[in-house]
Amino acid sequence: MEIELGISPSALAAIGLLFGLLIGSFLNVVILRLPVQLKGDWRRDSRDFLGLEPEPHEPVSIAKPASRCPACHAAIKPQHNIPLFSFLLLRGRCKSCAEPISIQYPIVELLAGLLAAYFVYQYGISSQSFYGLVFSYSLLVLTGIDLHEKLLPDQITLPLMWLGLFANLDGTFVSLNDAVIGAIAGYLSLWTVFWAFKLITGKEGMGYGDFKLLAALGAWMGWQMLPMIILLSTAVGALVGIAGIVLAGRNKEMPIAFGPFLAAAGWVAFVWGDKILAGYLGLFNF
Ligand SMILES: [Zn+2]
Repeated sequence: MEIELGISPSALAAIGLLFGLLIGSFLNVVILRLPVQLKGDWRRDSRDFLGLEPEPHEPVSIAKPASRCPACHAAIKPQHNIPLFSFLLLRGRCKSCAEPISIQYPIVELLAGLLAAYFVYQYGISSQSFYGLVFSYSLLVLTGIDLHEKLLPDQITLPLMWLGLFANLDGTFVSLNDAVIGAIAGYLSLWTVFWAFKLITGKEGMGYGDFKLLAALGAWMGWQMLPMIILLSTAVGALVGIAGIVLAGRNKEMPIAFGPFLAAAGWVAFVWGDKILAGYLGLFNF
């Protein structure tokens, strides 16, 4: 399904870019606040379960309170809250206390803008663009949260998986058969690796969030893409891990989040997977 607006793809991409920058600023809020909200919920549930008095707390949600500087708590004025431009205008420092503003903000905003530009340029105003953006933004948020918190919240991975199955009811990306098998195989493959690793070494190599994320990726693009996603993410993950140990003197016992590598490999497979597979199979003249 595609809506024709009669404007050129480049004009559409420019509009997409601006729209994406705005969404990016919302994604930043989700990345920072969803974990705070979840931890608050868990603490409340735990105290309730243990029969302890609830502790007084400041409710934090995606919507409240309004944006503040994390260093000096000054409210951020609307004119200093314009995606990307405010960061450049303020030269990356808080207007009130001059503390550096996290580089995460402009990076997420820019990525969100470029993603929207890319999808509407390629697919116009269509269900492909819509699904592609929801998929990409979910991966972006998961990456941000996993980097900060070593956590891939069920609140994102599970709806992402269901939405992938829904999108493929009429075969938007792959057949429903491939999608269902993809979700199952995605989960069970990492689950098997996890338990094998745990039985052999007694250590936990990854988290259940990783299985759910791979299940979601399988639901979106079918089981055929899973080997490529696993190969790509583990290869890049291992390289980054080794670089961290060699260059930054990182302790090799220190866990690194696997989610960002899965998410990045998943995105590459989503956008270029068919071409990569065709090229790879072409090498062997199948
Ligand atoms: Zn400040």
